[in-house]
Amino acid sequence: MRILLIEDEAALAGPMMEHLEVDHHLVEWFSTLDEAESAVRTSDYDVVLLDLQLPDGDGLGFLKSLRDRRINTPVIILTARDKVSDRIAGLNLGADDYVIKPFDLDEVKARIHTVCRRSADQRAETIIIGDLNISLADHIVLQAGHPIRLTTKEWRVLETLVRRKSKIVLKESLEAALYGFGEEIESNALEAHISRLRSKLGKDLIITHRGLGYGIAG
Ligand code: CA
Repeated sequence: MRILLIEDEAALAGPMMEHLEVDHHLVEWFSTLDEAESAVRTSDYDVVLLDLQLPDGDGLGFLKSLRDRRINTPVIILTARDKVSDRIAGLNLGADDYVIKPFDLDEVKARIHTVCRRSADQRAETIIIGDLNISLADHIVLQAGHPIRLTTKEWRVLETLVRRKSKIVLKESLEAALYGFGEEIESNALEAHISRLRSKLGKDLIITHRGLGYGIAG
């Protein structure tokens, strides 16, 4: 699993990373909201571990902005605040769980598994097209049983197309899926991703609707 850890106390973040990496999780650690914001714009995470008191602001504001943008990655709040009002505020803003500091690292691990399983159950969807098996929950593409590696942006294009299978997806919608709010759209980047997807997954998978956008064949 890919975990985003937002925590400004290195003495806490270090052991957490070590503990989670033993289980082969990939942990990316940032100590400010600003860095975390850049990270969520460019990467997809399976879970976010979010401290509330950070040097450049309140973690609750970060959580709210994720949910406002319909980024539904599970979020577990890590907080020293034991006030009931903070916990309620976090859950109201769309946090999936919270743990109160100081916490046991095995407990955090168990919470991560619980929220991720719940979120995967909600999203569990596998789409089969020809010899392709596309797992929207796990972000895995198998072709005749063999995994195909895609970049994050290639995945986003593919996911957007297969979620609207048999419909024409406008170029603008695909570009919106590729880029975060305010990010500059590179010209021809979409075409380049489509072309790489075709070479990885088969040239007939994606149909070009000239002047409009793209669609999935069949
Ligand atoms: Ca803190």
